[in-house]
This record gives sequence, structure tokens and C-alpha cells, in this order.
Amino acid sequence: MKIVLATSNPGKLKEFQALSLAAPDLELVLAPEGFNPEETGSTFIENALLKAREAAKLCHLPAIADDSGLTVEAMGGRPGIHSARYCPGSDADRRQKLLQELKDVPVGKRQAAFVCAVAFVDSNGEELFTCEQHWPGNISLSEVGSNGFGFDPVFIPLEQEITAAQMEPKAKNELSHRGQAWRRFLNHLATQQSRPI
Ligand code: IMP
Repeated sequence: MKIVLATSNPGKLKEFQALSLAAPDLELVLAPEGFNPEETGSTFIENALLKAREAAKLCHLPAIADDSGLTVEAMGGRPGIHSARYCPGSDADRRQKLLQELKDVPVGKRQAAFVCAVAFVDSNGEELFTCEQHWPGNISLSEVGSNGFGFDPVFIPLEQEITAAQMEPKAKNELSHRGQAWRRFLNHLATQQSRPI
């Protein structure tokens, strides 16, 4: 089944292809270069749906999109859906700003979660499947590790003693918000395909 992944980023395509090895019938293709719809939704699911619908409209194909971010309890759930735009600059700038905002928050009160929403629509933009998965943890006191991206070096998953940036990609995928959401989508596809017509 050919599905457009609502991004023009080849790195993201590779990541989702790696997550889809268990689904050899799934052919993911990129949205056209420059694809970058405005994320005007007020929830992760709304933003994922918005991206999926835009990609379906452009490519006349079923489309899948994800939207993700970090929610921090001591910050009332921020940066949340605004994680990628939490402050101008690089991922490193955003991590430093986060640690600065939390500088007076003690260990034990630094709960956070990575969130990932996935939305799948048909070629007309009709919603077929959505889900939202959370990966709970805590914000560390400083940056540790060099794997991954974004807030990985400051996120210690629950029941772990290392940050997400110290985990091997495979181990991260098994636990992460994105891995969980993607597996739910693959399960949805598998149940649809095995349905009698
Ligand atoms: P999106 O591209 O709108 O989904 O924005 C996601 C943003 O949330 C990224 O730019 C990161 O700042 C953050 N984020 C989401 N997932 C992760 C993750 O697995 N590790 C680190 N940061 C993440």
C-alpha cells in the first residue's frame, strides 16, 4: 500500500521506514519538497490531521502524519505542541532554555512526557485512524548523551537511569512515544487488510 508521509524531510522518512520493517507491504513516499503546512491546531492530534490532510490533497494518496513534542508538568504542560518553536535558534538553545526555566525545580518535581500523535487519512482527507502515545520521564539537571535529537539529552525516561540521548536508537524506538504510536498505526493497517471484503 502506497502512503505519503506528511513531511519532505528524508531523515524522517528513513526513521519511519525503519519503524515499519514489520510491514513489508507498506510503501512510504515523501511529500513534495517545501511541504510545510502551518500547524494551527490546538492539540497534537489536530496538527497531525492537518498535516496528513494537506499531504493527501497534494499527492492524491492516503497520507500519514505525526506531531510530537515535550510536555513538562512544572511548566503547565509547555512547550507541548510548540516544542519545535519553543525558542528561536538550535535544539541546543531550546534545551538550555528549558534547563534555565527549571533551574529552581528540584529532582522529584521535574516530571515530563514526550507525546506523539499519528493521523492517517484517505486520499480525500477522510480520517481513518488517530492515536496519541505518551513516554513519561523526568527532565535531567544537565545535558547528557549525544544520540537522538531535540530534547533527548535532557529527558530521562521513567525507570531508566540514562537520558534518551544515551540510548541506542533501537532501544529508544521500543519505548518511545513515536515507536508506540507507529506500532498502533501498523496494527490498525494490519487489521484493516485482514478484514474480509
Ligand atoms: P514536530 O516536528 O512538530 O513533531 O516537532 C517535534 C519537536 O518536539 C521536536 O523539534 C523536538 O523539539 C521535540 N521532540 C519530539 N519528539 C522528540 C524526541 O523523540 N526526542 C527529542 N525531542 C523530541
